[in-house]
Amino acid sequence: MSVKKVGAKPQTLIEKIFFIDFMKGLSTTIKHLFKRTITVDFPYEVVTPSIRFRGVHGLRNVDGTEADDFEAWVKKLKIKPPEMGETRCIACKFCQAACPVPELFTIKAEKLDVPEDHPHHKLKVLAVFDMDLSKCMFCGLCTQACPTDCIIHTDVYDLSSYTRRSWVMDKDMLSQIADDFIARRGKEKFDEKSKWRQDQKLWPEYDETRPKLWDFHPPKLGPNYIDELQNTFNQVDQQVKNQSSDNA
Ligand code: SF4
Ligand code: SF4
Repeated sequence: MSVKKVGAKPQTLIEKIFFIDFMKGLSTTIKHLFKRTITVDFPYEVVTPSIRFRGVHGLRNVDGTEADDFEAWVKKLKIKPPEMGETRCIACKFCQAACPVPELFTIKAEKLDVPEDHPHHKLKVLAVFDMDLSKCMFCGLCTQACPTDCIIHTDVYDLSSYTRRSWVMDKDMLSQIADDFIARRGKEKFDEKSKWRQDQKLWPEYDETRPKLWDFHPPKLGPNYIDELQNTFNQVDQQVKNQSSDNA
């Protein structure tokens, strides 16, 4: 019985003598020696990520570049009006509701302990804002949901650590990360009123559902907050569908 050979063509005598295959491989290596290197010697060298890079989160503070509706949000959530340098977070938990892994957030607001005649009586401040980034998939949905543009992604990508605890960021750490990031990129690029900021959105089409949702159904903070918010989303979805079928 004859055996049919399959596979690569056998080398010729000349190819064997002059190591032709070996030389072909080596020529590819030599070509790459003269090309621009794309690997870096991290952590001694760091790269600057692209503008839309979704790195470690930051919490922005009030810096005078807030959108026009910022004060209205603060009022609606009964938060003490923040001063310059204080957090923009109004503890609305929209970021948590939008997150596919909501348990990574711990957000709490506390009522101020002030006398009845004090102007801040019955108002709240953000007490806890923790994020466990070991559970985060860096999808960016939280940043899109935030009504005050407080939570943002930064260009920080080095989260390596020996402990899981160090991946849990509190509000002070997140504020510092955002401050440093904005200082690196330039404050004007984060001005809500500038067109530049619209161009930076992960998904450029403005989400029109969010303001509508708030106007029609202000969510009530409480233990069933997430469920209530989900119901609200469903109601708004239904309204939008009804409107589209009416217009058709
Ligand atoms: S980036 Fe995605 S997974 Fe991470 S906190 Fe935001 S919504 Fe959640
Ligand atoms: S959505 Fe924005 S304002 Fe609301 S809790 Fe999250 S970070 Fe704070």
